[in-house]
Amino acid sequence: MRVFINDKAVDVPRGARVRDAVAQADDGLARLLDSAAYVTDAAGRPIDAGDPVGEAGAVFRVVVSAKRGGKPRLTKEALRRWPKAELHVHLDGALRPATMLELARAQGIRLPADTPDALAKAMLVRDAKSLEDYLRKYEITLSVLQTAQALERVAYEFVIDVAAENVRYVEVRYSPLLHRPALTLAQAIEAPLAGMRRGMIETGTKVGLIVCAMRTRPPAESLELARVAAEYRTAGITAFDLAGAERGHAAREHRAAFEYAAGHGMACTCHAGEGDGPHSIDQAVHELGAQRIGHGTRLAEDPALLDEIIARKIPLEMCLTSNVHTHVVTAVAEHPFARYYQQGVVVTLNTDGRLTDGITLTDEYYLAHTALGLGPADLARVVLNACESAFLPEYEKVALVSRVQSELGAL
Ligand SMILES: [Zn+2]
Repeated sequence: MRVFINDKAVDVPRGARVRDAVAQADDGLARLLDSAAYVTDAAGRPIDAGDPVGEAGAVFRVVVSAKRGGKPRLTKEALRRWPKAELHVHLDGALRPATMLELARAQGIRLPADTPDALAKAMLVRDAKSLEDYLRKYEITLSVLQTAQALERVAYEFVIDVAAENVRYVEVRYSPLLHRPALTLAQAIEAPLAGMRRGMIETGTKVGLIVCAMRTRPPAESLELARVAAEYRTAGITAFDLAGAERGHAAREHRAAFEYAAGHGMACTCHAGEGDGPHSIDQAVHELGAQRIGHGTRLAEDPALLDEIIARKIPLEMCLTSNVHTHVVTAVAEHPFARYYQQGVVVTLNTDGRLTDGITLTDEYYLAHTALGLGPADLARVVLNACESAFLPEYEKVALVSRVQSELGAL
């Protein structure tokens, strides 16, 4: 089948590696792949030369960069073996396509495609124009998640999937409000908790559940959710969050819910500085008492706030690919993640939506390595940032950090 390397057409057998296709186009270029060159897809996203070429017509670019010369580079496979932790991922953005199809068939729901591959493609948000547009994909996943069995199953499968790429600790989030009226809030909370527990026992990966109030819903619903969620605080609910379209929906309207959650011992995080500017982060921190910020991409637009976030060590749950998809940044190379890291912000790497963004956590670490130039020591720091920012009781956090630290040391 025919693929393109720097606009040159080459014919390779199906299943060939990108490296083989590059070698066919230019042997000298292929030899640079381990030192001074790397490969990107047509959109400029770095990919592993050891990956299969995929479909006919695929376009790859080989970029030679003097800056990278001589540096030992991590492969995606090496990063997959690293112990990792993730703090920001949406359960309803992380379904297996095959499971979506099964759930849809059983419930008589129509989906935009009827094979797992075609559905995975249809669920990708690459063409979203904004955060609001991106969120529309979630309406499709939510359509098959309106039963307790479906929620239990996807929560279980989620844990199995993240454990397979060596995620040792994960906090997964969703909004129980989006499963009404089919389920009560209590049912919509108990179902994923049961699936998580089943996954935890099987894999040893520790999981926390974060419930999201929605910016677009009436504040009274947020408070109602905080009340029910607080009852499950010792049963696996880790924190309270605010999600949904950011612009035009001020966080401060949901202050009563956050006060209730914090007053009943729940940790709080808040999506901010993704679909709106730094004033949104300001509100999340100062009016909702958020202890972490979901994204926080636009933080640097307010230098005083940036200084405060650094001084108070408020962690940012950053998502590189998702921010490209929602046009918060124009390209990964423009993402402020590495800058914030160098300035001393406690930054963490996260997927946001494994299905909707078409990525794994390993992909995001690989992207930070290849596109943003973070080396192995930096990436290990980012893993530990995530562990240290976990919403866990102090003694459990210490155990997690020391376990991951010793695993990283043994690599
Ligand atoms: Zn998010």
